[in-house]
Amino acid sequence: MVVQNSGILSLKEWDISFSNFNRPFVIAGPCSAETEEQVLSIAEQLKDVKNIIYFRSGLWKPRTRPSSFQGVGEQGLPWLKAVKEKYGLRIITEVASPYHLEKVLEYNFDAVWIGARTTVNPFAVQEIAEALKGVTIPVFMKNPINPDLELWIGAIERINKSGIKKIAAIHRGFSNYEKSRYRNLPQWQIPIDLKTYIPEITILCDPSHISGNSAYIYELSQEAMDLNFDGLMIETHTNPKEALSDASQQITPSKLKQILSTLIIRKPTTENYPVLQQIEELRKKIDVLDDHLLTTLEQRMNLVKKIGELKNKSGITILQSERWKKILASALEKGGRKGLNANFINKLFKLIHQEAIAIQAKIMDKKLRK
Ligand code: PEP
Ligand code: MN
Repeated sequence: MVVQNSGILSLKEWDISFSNFNRPFVIAGPCSAETEEQVLSIAEQLKDVKNIIYFRSGLWKPRTRPSSFQGVGEQGLPWLKAVKEKYGLRIITEVASPYHLEKVLEYNFDAVWIGARTTVNPFAVQEIAEALKGVTIPVFMKNPINPDLELWIGAIERINKSGIKKIAAIHRGFSNYEKSRYRNLPQWQIPIDLKTYIPEITILCDPSHISGNSAYIYELSQEAMDLNFDGLMIETHTNPKEALSDASQQITPSKLKQILSTLIIRKPTTENYPVLQQIEELRKKIDVLDDHLLTTLEQRMNLVKKIGELKNKSGITILQSERWKKILASALEKGGRKGLNANFINKLFKLIHQEAIAIQAKIMDKKLRK
């Protein structure tokens, strides 16, 4: 997506001190607090894990169906306070209203996150932003459930305008009607665009809510690290199968330790100059090819315009299904022979075809109005 009015956000004295932590910056703990023993036993196993900056636990749970476990609410506040006192872990939970925030501040939480179902609602975000005036704790902003970058940026701006200087983003994937490998589609380009738009922002990936499946936590975490995310939020439970919420996506503390020790943490750059030089040369070649691509697209769309004029003159419909079927089949076949991913070719040609249709529709529309 192209962000309108792109440029530097007028963010209030942006605080980038999150970057003092070693990558990955990790938030771990259960989806929901269930009992005091449960949070304490999970915290006990997480207390010495390097990289864990916050112990997470949901108290008020935004559940899709009212029959699901709604969280223990206020009852869990002292349990998390006990986690902090006993194990020295910083604590964080989700707030969805000024009331939640008030309660969380009363119990000295170290940070809060705003969930995906709240980020979508500017009224709700604004109410929380008002309540945050004068507060100094960090706020973690999950992306909205729908793939809307502006909504995510808008929510960050609202919180920042209330005076909060430490804001981080959490990418938890985007809701999708069709079934896919993951519970929420990662759509990596959106968090990448956010980082391009606000380069200072610390950004975490939440592989638990993206995957919905404990089997994919490792691969998504590695992908996030390779895309230079700063950290991870991972749901962790001593007995995932028995968890009262999100049982299929939680992992045990020992599995978390194993994942964290297996992740390959690459640096965004290197001091190795011959390698940098080689990358630079390859990038130059890519730039030339990208120019060719654009010229080819320009020429292709010019031909589309000519065809559009002819179709318009002779009263033929824009779409000839047989021709389109042939284009796609041939692209998939030739692309396959060149080792190009079929899914990629499919998407690319559909996009080109949509643009060709839009160009021709514009020609016909103009002639109609004359
Ligand atoms: C959560 O982290 O517990 C949660 C509800 O996440 P999200 O808002 O991403 O669905
Ligand atoms: Mn959850």
